Amino acid sequence: METIRFEELQLNDAILRAVADMGFEAASPIQAQAIPAQLEGCDMIGQAQTGTGKTAAFGIPLLQKIDSDNRKLQAIVLLPTRELAIQVAEEIRHLAKFMHGIKVLPVYGGQDIVRQIRALKEGTQVVIGTPGRVMDHMRRKTIRVDQVHTVVLDEADEMLNMGFLEDMETILSQLPEERQTVMFSATMPSAIAEIARKFQKDPVMVRVVKKELTVPEVTQYYYEVKPKNKVEVLCRLMDLYSPKLSVVFCNTKKGVDELVQALQGRGYFAEGLHGDLKQEQRDRVMNGFRNGRTEILVATDVAARGIDVDDVEAVFNYDIPQDDEYYVHRIGRTGRAGRVGKAFSLVVGKEVYKLREIQRYCKTKIIPQAIPSLDDITDIKVEKTLDQVRELLESTDLSAMINVIEQKLIEEDYTALDLAAALLKMSMGEDNEDIIDNFAPARSLDDLEGFRRDGRRFGRESRREDYSRNRRRGGADRAVMDYITGEDMARLFVNIGKNQGVTPGDILGAVAGESGIPGRVVGSIDMYDGYTFVEVPRKYSEQVLSAMEHAKIKGKNVRIERATGSISRKGHGSGRRGR
Ligand code: AMP
Repeated sequence: METIRFEELQLNDAILRAVADMGFEAASPIQAQAIPAQLEGCDMIGQAQTGTGKTAAFGIPLLQKIDSDNRKLQAIVLLPTRELAIQVAEEIRHLAKFMHGIKVLPVYGGQDIVRQIRALKEGTQVVIGTPGRVMDHMRRKTIRVDQVHTVVLDEADEMLNMGFLEDMETILSQLPEERQTVMFSATMPSAIAEIARKFQKDPVMVRVVKKELTVPEVTQYYYEVKPKNKVEVLCRLMDLYSPKLSVVFCNTKKGVDELVQALQGRGYFAEGLHGDLKQEQRDRVMNGFRNGRTEILVATDVAARGIDVDDVEAVFNYDIPQDDEYYVHRIGRTGRAGRVGKAFSLVVGKEVYKLREIQRYCKTKIIPQAIPSLDDITDIKVEKTLDQVRELLESTDLSAMINVIEQKLIEEDYTALDLAAALLKMSMGEDNEDIIDNFAPARSLDDLEGFRRDGRRFGRESRREDYSRNRRRGGADRAVMDYITGEDMARLFVNIGKNQGVTPGDILGAVAGESGIPGRVVGSIDMYDGYTFVEVPRKYSEQVLSAMEHAKIKGKNVRIERATGSISRKGHGSGRRGR
């Protein structure tokens, strides 16, 4: 797969800056073809659907042609729904972030027209609207088209389905002759060819030609999630399946950075890999992953190309890839060397149609799954804790602890079972409401036909009740172990805290990474504005102190020392999610 960087596309600096700011690493396949074609001034028909980066594929060349000194309307994007108008306007505004004096306005039915008129009068160069409302403004002369040089029909097939053909034709016939007409459509019914024949001049046809690909033997699952729950769902899947090594894919560099922060903050050993890293950093990340110190590698498609690690047990599509081929490459990171790997995809809203497309193209099966509930996770954690208990019973002399318990049993009216149950409950952390309120399994991708492409949903509510459970949250499963083993902890002081923008995950990563002690033995991390206390087993404290002597955390020099006045104390649950 060839990678085209945005720098190769002859874009102006402001747009390049915006694209970098949005965290895009490389042009998506449809962008790589559609942007140069449009920059040459050709009329174009692009076959692409939502999720492929098609908005930027027309948004970038459109913006590049806008004269910001001219306050007149210069480009119109027509699209089928209000929701899409708002989304596309937002994406184009992001792309125009560093172009001064450019105004982009969504106009759609149902919104107060007087407000739209006021905004239009302030000088808008780009209008993004539904055909009915745009026509309305043209009739009122609140939209004047004499200087419009670019028109885009986005989701043209959907506009036809919604009965906008006549409106589209009326609008197109009133635009200046000298203009560029660009059309994007997921499907190519004959009516689209008819519009092209009537309103375009020698259009170039652009679509991503799909190669025949061998899909690796990987068990594939998918989950329907809300954007705000993505991190939580990912963590639950990690806890449930506990893959030793996994690769998580994001579509942007920004996405990688944010996810790594979120995972580290929850105590996972995650590191990011993307094109902004220097070779040296890349090597460090890859070495950590190879030797298992980093368990979760979060990467963009481009950055992950070179990964040659054999025992990746799971791949997570945190974002659905922009191209079917990427999907195949991604899941091929697992299931190597004869093993059967697992792939998990999180889909939000309309992305489910993209995934269906991928399933079709790959002639594979992506199995819908229900998001694991906190109960499921708790069950797993109980099992893991009991495994650890078993190990400990077999390997350690617990006579001192047994004495304490015996004493307790004499003094109080408990049974040994009561005590064990209470300790186990403590290890599971606090009771919490489940933030996820829908555990219905995702729909089968084969049953999606009846759904509209704009992602409206039917028939979910009834299923919801059966599955929604508000139960307690699994928490630090190490507390009980520390309590039982009575691990003697030393409290260390680090002169860096929240105000310096570090997270508990950063501290944990640095302490474990620099000193080589396992992250799971690190105790509580209490973070304050300007400093942090971190607990490590006393037997490791010297090792940590000397390893951290010249260490940096998030690029900042730090000082680490024994916390003054601190008394040695027995370990406690860390409050982090135990791993
Ligand atoms: P679209 O197909 O236009 O609906 O885009 C889907 C998502 O992909 C949007 O969130 C875009 O911001 C994002 N996107 C567009 N181009 C790229 C790119 N080259 N790299 C990463 N993400 C992109």
